[in-house]
Amino acid sequence: MIKIGCHLSSSKGFLHMGKEAASIGANTFQFFTRNPRGSKAKAIDPEDVKAYLEFAKGQGIGEIVAHAPYTLNPCSAKEKTREFALQTMRDDLERMEYLPGNYYNFHPGSHVGQGIEKGISLIAQTLNEILTPGQRTTVLLETMAGKGSEVGSRFEELERILELVECPELVGVCLDTCHVYDAGYDIAGDLEGVLNTFDRVIGLEKLKAVHVNDTKNPMGSHKDRHEKIGEGFLGLEALRRTVHHPKLCGLPFCLETPNELAGYEAEIRLLRQKA
Ligand code: FE
Ligand code: FE
Ligand code: ZN
Repeated sequence: MIKIGCHLSSSKGFLHMGKEAASIGANTFQFFTRNPRGSKAKAIDPEDVKAYLEFAKGQGIGEIVAHAPYTLNPCSAKEKTREFALQTMRDDLERMEYLPGNYYNFHPGSHVGQGIEKGISLIAQTLNEILTPGQRTTVLLETMAGKGSEVGSRFEELERILELVECPELVGVCLDTCHVYDAGYDIAGDLEGVLNTFDRVIGLEKLKAVHVNDTKNPMGSHKDRHEKIGEGFLGLEALRRTVHHPKLCGLPFCLETPNELAGYEAEIRLLRQKA
């Protein structure tokens, strides 16, 4: 069964998210580890986590994806901003150990004029400081649209970061369909070609999760504006092909479209159908 779900609010805890996911036909989901703007995280409630894990097992909910606050910038030019990203990510990873075997996705960051090389090296440095051998969470670099000075809109950039990480088994990539298309990869017209490129540059074995979004903008626009499934430039068929592609079989697919729960439920149903 295809593992598909959507981004959910974590404000009411894990069991609540699990129940919401199950109620809309989802068997995975994504959530922010804290307020997306990066404030203090709520303490983990071990009882809630325990109840969630039991519920998830019964419902067949597979791996889930935690998303770091998108305001973090691990490759900022300001030491203070980098340090804040590092401390936040380290704290998130400690909390994720309550839910072993899942993913922690983050935006690599923006090099803000320091150049792509400097950005890559700062991101890898951050990863090398926060990854702990034996940790049970895989950290994912998200493919970016290439807005402003974002690092990670080219597969080559992500590959270079991965290459500099000292614990390669603890890192992977999350592919965002809106972002890669905005970055100039034609997943609507040539999904096979893009996956082959990913495989050649990074290796498909490093691909651990997918964000399924349509986009408000044409290929190569570097804008990063998500659209509802079927209402953007990618279209339902291209996204369906992605979700059902045999090379992506078993990966968690998470919707991050502008929707409420009912809209997500309908999109999950649409994408589960083969045609
Ligand atoms: Fe993201
Ligand atoms: Fe995304
Ligand atoms: Zn986005």
